[in-house]
Amino acid sequence: MASYEYETHDYDVVVVGAGGAGLRATLGMAEQGLRTACVTKVFPTRSHTVAAQGGIAASLSNMGPDHWQWHMYDTVKGSDWLGDTDAMEYLAREAPKAVYELEHYGVPFSRTEEGKIYQRPFGGHTTEFGEGPPVQRTCAAADRTGHAILHTLYGQSLKNNAEFYIEYFAIDLIMSDDGVCTGVVCWKLDDGTMHVFNAKMVVLATGGYGRAYFSATSAHTCTGDGGGMVARAGLALQDMEFVQFHPTGIYGSGCLITEGARGEGGYLTNSEGERFMERYAPNYKDLAPRDYVSRSMTMEIREGRGVGEHGDHIHLNLSHLPAEALAERLPGISESAKIFAGVDVTKEPIPVLPTVHYNMGGIPTNYWGEVINPTKDDPNAIVPGLMAVGEAGCASVHGANRLGSNSLIDLVVFGRAAAIRAGKTVDPEAPTPPLNTAAIDKAFDRFDGLRHADGGTPTAELRLEMQRTMQSDAAVFRASDTLKEGLDKMTGIAAKLDDIKVTDRSLVWNSDLMETLELTNLMPNALATIAGAEARKESRGAHAHEDHPERDDENWRVHTIAHVDGNKAALTYREVITDPLTNEQQGGIAIEKIAPKARTF
Ligand SMILES: Cc1cc2nc3c(=O)[nH]c(=O)nc-3n(C[C@H](O)[C@H](O)[C@H](O)COP(=O)(O)OP(=O)(O)OC[C@H]3O[C@@H](n4cnc5c(N)ncnc54)[C@H](O)[C@@H]3O)c2cc1C
Repeated sequence: MASYEYETHDYDVVVVGAGGAGLRATLGMAEQGLRTACVTKVFPTRSHTVAAQGGIAASLSNMGPDHWQWHMYDTVKGSDWLGDTDAMEYLAREAPKAVYELEHYGVPFSRTEEGKIYQRPFGGHTTEFGEGPPVQRTCAAADRTGHAILHTLYGQSLKNNAEFYIEYFAIDLIMSDDGVCTGVVCWKLDDGTMHVFNAKMVVLATGGYGRAYFSATSAHTCTGDGGGMVARAGLALQDMEFVQFHPTGIYGSGCLITEGARGEGGYLTNSEGERFMERYAPNYKDLAPRDYVSRSMTMEIREGRGVGEHGDHIHLNLSHLPAEALAERLPGISESAKIFAGVDVTKEPIPVLPTVHYNMGGIPTNYWGEVINPTKDDPNAIVPGLMAVGEAGCASVHGANRLGSNSLIDLVVFGRAAAIRAGKTVDPEAPTPPLNTAAIDKAFDRFDGLRHADGGTPTAELRLEMQRTMQSDAAVFRASDTLKEGLDKMTGIAAKLDDIKVTDRSLVWNSDLMETLELTNLMPNALATIAGAEARKESRGAHAHEDHPERDDENWRVHTIAHVDGNKAALTYREVITDPLTNEQQGGIAIEKIAPKARTF
């Protein structure tokens, strides 16, 4: 058995991750006087949230009439009726409060002439329960909204005495035999020391797993570490087959051009110069939701109307917009287009392609962020001591497809909700749980095994194999035969983790070992994704199945629950929560308003 010396840290709460979700949870915990540690593998303000450009959705009505019920309806419809209704109500209702809190914490939002928070239109956000024109609901700090939010929340967390452990890599959860989480084992990257965080509550806020794919808009650090830890603890992952492709990744690099570009009046054209979205979505055109626009673009390319030498991408036009508007509202993307596509947006269109962008699936939670591990007897059974928020979690508010600007609001609403809940369930007077040395040793054993791995397959090679398979077989359009083939391939690829080769055995800044740990996290996420997709015989949201082109509510309005063990994903299903928190009599939404219907735009 491997033996490593370690330092023990006792806290009320340890939050893993310092993106928007982790920082909002950390701040909320610390504000209530809970002793809170935030552990993060990158410096807080380098978390992927920093790259969020477009904005954060909340029905503030600053630019015209809006209601939280309209926001809720759009989210329900956007999710293609797979989201949990109680959580979607909570999101839409709490959103304005959460945004005003951000404003008061100091986020420098863009302003209207009267000094109110500026809001822009975003895809799928409408008025009058989808009957009216698009709404301006997305609050923005130019095209650097995530950057502004992260810096503000980090400063506020420090002010409230939260303690940060920066460049600490969380390896595994500490779970008791009876399924209670009591902490997390970490490796300090810059000096090679080991650390055990012993806590009454662990909050996973580790972000998405976009890097399971070859071309993604997400940072290289988005490796689904929370999902990996949860899978190894024998807990569930939910709805992993729903992967969002953003319509406008820059062709070649995958770098994102925000949907705000279309919100500000940009539009897509094919090789004939046609604004083809008018054919697919006559009402909302280029502002239809992302799954819709990505599929339409893919159809244009398939039918021979793609642009460029190989006819394999699409043009995004902004040059008709006033140069001042571009400079003021979209300065960051003007720069990205110059750097990554060599394009001057005031003169030429940007070459774009649907690119992996967001994971709707994740660690299942209730709307307080408490992790659930569904059993036959209790589909909503809570895992004591464990929460998950942000892109790592699945509350589920995005269902089968997330609306643009609904993730940033998800981070702060549920980061805040987790803190409110912990304020009620965590007793600061109680002693921290006793050290679970058996679970700690198990984590070190796995770590040590990888550190000395001497197989025949280098990490980078296996990762590439996984990424290419996911990119080709779990893509925008999916079919029975390619999904089956992809699942077989992924089963083989995951088995090759036993043959992994690590060359650097040191403990200080060993990026080879860190990337290997990350690969062991990406793998269960990827496997659950393709297994869930292979099994789901319908089309819903981002899951477009060519052999089953219709949505099938009778058989498939259910959450996929995956338990991954080694290279196998066992699937079961869980009912979607269809009841809102409040009904019409209580000032909430009329239930018939959100009943499933065909999703057209
Ligand atoms: C380019 C881009 C633009 C986007 N624009 C928008 C937008 O305009 N509006 C919107 O609503 N959404 C947007 N999104 C989506 C949204 O930004 C993300 O879903 C969201 O930022 C995820 O936040 P998070 O807090 O869950 O995770 P992240 O911001 O990804 O942070 C994850 C944190 O976990 C830590 N971590 C991970 N693993 C470990 C480990 N093993 N040990 C220790 N720490 C670990 C990391 O250090 C990091 O601090 C965008 C996404 C991208 C990629």
